[in-house]
Amino acid sequence: MSLIVIHNYINGELLPPADGEYLDTYEPATGQVYARTPESGAADLQTAIDAAQAAFPGWAQMPGEHKSQCLIRLADLIEANHDQLAEAEARDNGKPVTLARNVDIYRAAANIRFFAQGLTQFSSESHGMENRAINFTLRDPLGVVACISPWNLPLYLFTWKIAPALAMGNTVIAKPSEITPMTAWLFSRLCIEAGLPAGVLNILHGSGPAIGGPLTTHPAIKAISFTGGSATGTLIKQATAHQHKKLSLELGGKNPTLVFADCDFDRTVEQVARSAFANQGQICLCGSRIYIERSIYDRFVDALTEQVKQLKIGDPLDPQTQFGALVSEDHMRKVLGYIDLARQEGGTVLTGGKQIRLEGRCADGYFVAPTIIAGLSNQCRTNQEEIFGPVCTVQAFDNDDEALLMANDSDYGLACSLWSRDINRCHRLAQQINTGIVWINCWLLRDLRTPFGGMKASGSGREGGLEAMRFFTEAKNVCIQY
Ligand code: NAD
Repeated sequence: MSLIVIHNYINGELLPPADGEYLDTYEPATGQVYARTPESGAADLQTAIDAAQAAFPGWAQMPGEHKSQCLIRLADLIEANHDQLAEAEARDNGKPVTLARNVDIYRAAANIRFFAQGLTQFSSESHGMENRAINFTLRDPLGVVACISPWNLPLYLFTWKIAPALAMGNTVIAKPSEITPMTAWLFSRLCIEAGLPAGVLNILHGSGPAIGGPLTTHPAIKAISFTGGSATGTLIKQATAHQHKKLSLELGGKNPTLVFADCDFDRTVEQVARSAFANQGQICLCGSRIYIERSIYDRFVDALTEQVKQLKIGDPLDPQTQFGALVSEDHMRKVLGYIDLARQEGGTVLTGGKQIRLEGRCADGYFVAPTIIAGLSNQCRTNQEEIFGPVCTVQAFDNDDEALLMANDSDYGLACSLWSRDINRCHRLAQQINTGIVWINCWLLRDLRTPFGGMKASGSGREGGLEAMRFFTEAKNVCIQY
């Protein structure tokens, strides 16, 4: 079968990379190359910057209602192409197509629709000073901004960034992950179909070193919205420190899940399994450190292990599949390496712990069984480092204080979930837990208006709702005395 050839989207056109360099794109479920992705370079970047700069005044000054209509047309087109995009996402990333349908593609359209509507409601603040003066805040678009996204939720996180950036009147250079470029490529064709003005959004494909780094340090870029690993976030901070750009960094996680004896047992087992293994554990919000109150520890761990063993592992394109492939061979090796490390650290594998070989089309795919590990200390590397795969650990605690201590004993601070019927305890712990997001008796329940992001090594700044819209503006306060 011939390879799909992906193009950049620059100034409203689909263009090959100027120097003709391409990367191989693999289908994780088969281990086969199925597409070629531009490895963009300096010339592509400069063409995109020029286009975005030229488009900026027109887009910034376009009446909000018209910008909103452009974005709504895009959201409509994502919905109209829902199944094709979901299949492309499953093939490109290895995730179950059912998940891509119900979560990724659904959310990509919702992201764009949300900010398209949001821009028509956006207002800036005013602050009166006791009959002496009035302050009002101007919020102008920044200019050309960069949006860089990872491979785990490709179109979902890509649109989560570009939608507020565009809604607030900026023009954008966006870089999807080179590992999962396919739906951003399909999306660029939808932008043309939607009649998005040329240069307003430009999509450059390629690796971090070739195009991600140069994009972030380009002097024309006024702000960077980045989602990815904490180490890359640090590199971006260091590389741009002298340039004083606005930065929004959504980074890694090592999220605690706290299960108390008074939880709704069956529902908690089901949801904790989901929170650990959705998307093969490759969601930054996945709960990978599971702490369980000692009085129910054995019963809960048995039930969780049984639940996880039932997951249907298979071809991501099969609608019955609940658990697909890891995104790449490198990532699979990294995850298997962590499972070996956990064994060396004294852990006991309760289920999983190995690569899985499927038959037929997926015989060479990157499948790792969902893995639960017991018997490790909180301090060991398995419990401190982000694995970002289908591996979680279980530990017992005796009281709320100990649970809190263990949950907070991490460099990361993205998300946590608490499972208890005692709402006073939940309130108390929610205040004391050092994560940007706390879910109580739920996980990944998302309201797009809420602040989204993490503390500590999980990043700085917040996305979502007004936080994202304000990030993509420059605030100027005007004070008038009268
Ligand atoms: P990554 O940091 O390797 O890559 C992310 C993106 O940055 C890719 O597009 C990549 O090409 C680009 N990039 C790489 N080096 C760069 C550089 N020097 N300058 C600019 N761009 C560069 O991350 P990944 O492996 O794609 O994604 C997994 C990570 O993302 C995990 O750590 C996960 O927790 C995190 N993540 C966080 C969130 C969140 O909202 N906090 C959401 C999803 C994923």
